[in-house]
Amino acid sequence: MTASHSDPRTSTAYPDADDRADYDYQGGDVDRPGLVDDLESIVVGEVRFDEYSRQLYATDASAYEVTPIGVVYPAAPDDVAAVVEYCGLREIPVLPRGGGTSLAGQTVNEAVVLDFTRHMDAVVEVDPDDRRARVQPGAVLADLNAELEPHDLKFAPDPAWGDKSAVGGAVGNNSTGAHSLQYGKTDAYVESCEVVLADGTVTTFGEVSVDELRERAGDDGIEARIYAEVARILDEESDEIEARYPELKRNVSGYNLNALLEASEDGTVNLAKLLAGSEGTLAVVTEVEVSLEPIPETKSMALLSYGSVVDAMADVEPILEHDPAAVELVDDVLIDLARETAEFEDVVAMLPEGTDSVLLVEFYAENDAEGRERVAELLSDRVPGNGVEGAVTDGAPAAESTPAVAALEAHDADQRALFWKLRKSGLPILLSRTTDEKHVSFIEDCAVPPEHLPEYVEEFRAVLEDHDTFASFYAHAGPGVLHIRPLINTKSEMGAETMEAIADDVTDLVVEYGGSVSGEHGDGRARTQWNRKLYGEALWETFRDLKSAFDPDWILNPGTVCGDHDMTENLRYDAEYEFDAGFDPDLNWNNDNGFQGMAELCHGCGGCRGGQDTTGGVMCPTYRAEDEEILSTRGRANMLRQAMSGGLGAANAAAERTGRAADEVEKAHLSEEFLDEVLDLCIGCKGCAKDCPSEVDMAKLKAEVTHQRHERTGASLREKLFANIDALSALGSATAPVSNWLPKLPGARLLMEKTVGIARERSLPTFRRETVRDWFEDRGGSTVAEGEADRRAILLPDTYTNYSYPERGKAAVRVLEAADVHVELAESTDSGRPAHSKGFLDASRETARENVAELVPAVETGWDVVVVEPSDAVMLQSDYLDLNSGRDAEKVAGNTYGVCEYLDAFRLDERLDANASGALTYHGHCHQKATKKDHHAVAVLRRAGYDVDPLDSTCCGMAGSFGYEAEHYSMSQAIGSILFEQVAESDGNEVVAPGASCRTQLGDRQGAESPAHPIEKLAAAMD
Ligand SMILES: Cc1cc2nc3c(=O)[nH]c(=O)nc-3n(C[C@H](O)[C@H](O)[C@H](O)COP(=O)(O)OP(=O)(O)OC[C@H]3O[C@@H](n4cnc5c(N)ncnc54)[C@H](O)[C@@H]3O)c2cc1C
Ligand code: SF4
Ligand code: SF4
Repeated sequence: MTASHSDPRTSTAYPDADDRADYDYQGGDVDRPGLVDDLESIVVGEVRFDEYSRQLYATDASAYEVTPIGVVYPAAPDDVAAVVEYCGLREIPVLPRGGGTSLAGQTVNEAVVLDFTRHMDAVVEVDPDDRRARVQPGAVLADLNAELEPHDLKFAPDPAWGDKSAVGGAVGNNSTGAHSLQYGKTDAYVESCEVVLADGTVTTFGEVSVDELRERAGDDGIEARIYAEVARILDEESDEIEARYPELKRNVSGYNLNALLEASEDGTVNLAKLLAGSEGTLAVVTEVEVSLEPIPETKSMALLSYGSVVDAMADVEPILEHDPAAVELVDDVLIDLARETAEFEDVVAMLPEGTDSVLLVEFYAENDAEGRERVAELLSDRVPGNGVEGAVTDGAPAAESTPAVAALEAHDADQRALFWKLRKSGLPILLSRTTDEKHVSFIEDCAVPPEHLPEYVEEFRAVLEDHDTFASFYAHAGPGVLHIRPLINTKSEMGAETMEAIADDVTDLVVEYGGSVSGEHGDGRARTQWNRKLYGEALWETFRDLKSAFDPDWILNPGTVCGDHDMTENLRYDAEYEFDAGFDPDLNWNNDNGFQGMAELCHGCGGCRGGQDTTGGVMCPTYRAEDEEILSTRGRANMLRQAMSGGLGAANAAAERTGRAADEVEKAHLSEEFLDEVLDLCIGCKGCAKDCPSEVDMAKLKAEVTHQRHERTGASLREKLFANIDALSALGSATAPVSNWLPKLPGARLLMEKTVGIARERSLPTFRRETVRDWFEDRGGSTVAEGEADRRAILLPDTYTNYSYPERGKAAVRVLEAADVHVELAESTDSGRPAHSKGFLDASRETARENVAELVPAVETGWDVVVVEPSDAVMLQSDYLDLNSGRDAEKVAGNTYGVCEYLDAFRLDERLDANASGALTYHGHCHQKATKKDHHAVAVLRRAGYDVDPLDSTCCGMAGSFGYEAEHYSMSQAIGSILFEQVAESDGNEVVAPGASCRTQLGDRQGAESPAHPIEKLAAAMD
């Protein structure tokens, strides 16, 4: 197992080993129980045929949805052989699956799904001398590369989602990425494959001589039949292959017959390379031997600006003469959209005036001087006179023969990252629409020879215009692969028809220019039908014969590549699609289509399946802890949407059983089982609201659904207690120290676990008799007179700060006052966060109203609102706007700051007489990360003199009350272990964390002290 963090499964804190963690990630009826029993008796891995598991695997990153028969997580090749043999005998379809990030629908089928990413994900062996590695199919490419990096080697094909997609998927799709000009596709690196054939036979395909192939063809059995068919194809179909396969660096449509033919010219064949791009239809790969490439020493880039996308396209061929590693396009549509997006406006701002479209050109080099020289040569050829660092442009072509109007260069890593950020801005922007019209992928990766790009783009645009739609053109211009996703509403019959009509026209266009319908993402359901037109009847029949030789009963991913898939069938959103939330949403949903739009926003890309070390960021901690699809944002979003659109049969089945109308029966998504297995384990960290390319906000969706459930069935005692933690803390403080003795009495913790469900392992906060407010009043208020102050701030001493950790509040007051801020304390200590996170939206709204009413008069007269606890700050800044509309809430939101954000935003910390030393490890709060306000604390700590190592960490796993809850304790620990490991590896000597939950989680580690809040370190720096 090559997980990106130490495997928590060995710990007793892992949910599997904790009886209290009574969730099993399954739900609904088990389909075909007899089949389940049989499979369970022959595999060591897991077998899941319950309704939830089936629905989780009904989608991938494509526009399609097909419910599978069930899911098996094989533990070893023997499991795979057993399942395939069993299914082969009964003609039950089988579908191998990696990360499920395919865009054409090749990873959804009515089949038994074999998910390799849970147990068959090991890097078996690395041989640096021979530059080879043996890998299991479920290994994520980025994890493989992490193991190769110390050897200065890498698996060269670099699909954009390589940190979520697996080696088996790369073979299945013959994947490659932005540097295909340099490296080609996966087939170039597949040296041999251990496979399970359609009858369960286990064998290994690798390079053999053509003579040996013919010899083996004479034997008996499935292998011999395959060799015989391959030999026949070489003998009889060579001319047709030569005539019909496009001359392209990038073509993954159909089977990889041209690679077979090319190799045979040297007297060898390698059937492992034939599997590349076969989309799980020929054999199931159980281990791959790949060859490796050295990591380039350095890189240099140029960004060339053009007055139009057609000008840019005309320049691709001459640029290729310079032998770049990548040539990538960003067109005018995307640049305009990026300009209006807060995240990318600064990147667009660097573009020279007159830029309509850009080509990003990257060179690999042995050293910096060589990189600079290669860029200089390119610019002197393509932008003569304009090629200097920084933009030089007169808005006109630099020379008659060179259409580029200006250029920028990048040689250091940060600047290069900025260029790539611009290039990658497309996806999040295009995929954030919550309307019924979406940028659908079905012709998104057609390829043509680069010399035809200008005419191709013009004619492509005309096709789109003919069908009353538009798209942006971006990505891999160098090898002629442009990403193009037209805006279409497939929820209407006309939308599906338009889709097919566009695909038909585009296929004609591609054929006319000697291109391919898929240069990157494969055939799947979207493009299989067009292979006939692309390759002609004879090769179509050859594909089918090859398929039959490998898989006589067509059980392996049937319908794909050369089968009968119809691109307009099985669409996730079609004319029959209906959505019924079953309630009127309570929160403000300001996006198009409101709650429904958000529930349908996830497009299945699998971005939420990235690891901590490779993808980084916050999303999605629960998936990172356990590698379970249902624990990813995608899993939750899929389940929620399906439950609300009839995909989960629970409500209907219950209605049938009871004879009541379906709408009188508990809705599937409000059932106990759904909430426990699907939504309950979402810890509400908001990581997805920031890290997901579409900004799916699962925390908000969960708050809405939980609220609706409370309305319907009431809430538990524990939920009510946690929602009212402010009042309880006030009581605890007033009765301290007695209130602190009670939980320490023998047996008290166990009793608390048994009665209210608070985990016995957790230490409860100690209540303090003297609160921040008491201290503040006793000292006579602020020491900085209002009239002499530079700023005036109302400090909200949140529940934990006021009643349990007053030192933090005192530190905040001291630091603010030292920075010439006159401080008053807010009346309330409750921001409404605890009630909000437990789904008590009415109570939370009421608290929000009261707080806004108290704060707004001050804000209107120039006061700022400052909050110590990040989740409370974000509550005022962001969640209040979901609860209450109106200018008052907006005013308070716009003038509220986390305490470090406040110091940094107004550079108040520069007035402090701070002189610190020491190395700190900083773990930020996920809510502040989600609202992009997490960098402030690091900035002020560094200015105070500390060396700060900010962790790229996910949620700590405590998530408010989640980690206190007995059944969630082990999950909380499994998530926490990711952070603990990062802390252990960090350069800092002491951890600081602004979040109260994070400090509790870190403080509960064995032998650890509770970390300080950054404000305490600032106060200490002034001493
Ligand atoms: C945002 C985004 C960007 C992308 N960018 C790129 C890109 O730059 N380049 C690119 O090539 N693709 C890209 N893709 C498509 C996709 O991510 C890649 O093709 C990826 O390599 C697929 O890997 P996966 O593990 O998700 O495979 P899956 O989707 O799980 O499977 C892919 C195919 O391989 C088959 N397969 C999986 N495992 C096996 C096995 N063990 N044996 C036999 N067959 C198997 C499956 O049946 C399926 O047909 C992108 C997708 C997204 C969502
Ligand atoms: S939640 Fe976001 S990142 Fe995850 S699959 Fe959906 S769109 Fe992709
Ligand atoms: S809120 Fe956090 S735990 Fe929930 S789905 Fe989003 S990233 Fe995952």
